[in-house]
Amino acid sequence: MKINVLELKHSREANYIFKKEFDGFEIGQDKVQFVKPVQLKVQVNVAGEEILVRGKITAVFKLICNRCLEPYNTEIYVNFMENFIKEDKYKKLPVDEKDDNLHSYKGDIIELDELVKQNIILSLPIKRICSVNCKGLCPQCGKNLNTEKCDCKIDNVDPRLAKLKDFFKFN
Ligand SMILES: [Zn+2]
Ligand SMILES: [Zn+2]
Repeated sequence: MKINVLELKHSREANYIFKKEFDGFEIGQDKVQFVKPVQLKVQVNVAGEEILVRGKITAVFKLICNRCLEPYNTEIYVNFMENFIKEDKYKKLPVDEKDDNLHSYKGDIIELDELVKQNIILSLPIKRICSVNCKGLCPQCGKNLNTEKCDCKIDNVDPRLAKLKDFFKFN
């Protein structure tokens, strides 16, 4: 996912669509695996010495459900807007003119892979559940209650759950 700024010399604006296979990665104890190539649509504009990159990422990946521990696929869309400036000019900028959305590039190539990856990581869902109806695992026998039934008595399982049960009785 590279933009050659020389291509922008005349038009000062361009659109690109990239597709790229990304390696999976680990966050804490979670493994994130891409199911298909990540797609990136970008609009690039030249504004003085800065190059404005507006992107839309589409990624499909496999996560592990927090309730039933089975893998499931999820799709995310992320929009971002970042500015790029040539490295030598970036170095001369006063500190207060640099912000998180301003990046430098070397030579004539703006490299977007790392930015795309960071944006994907930031938009990973915190709550990972395969479906709102996921029944999870039986806390006693460990069976996946989405696909199996068990005869466990779920009454005196967990004091916290018991409290919740009382709550529902009263309401
Ligand atoms: Zn689940
Ligand atoms: Zn059970």
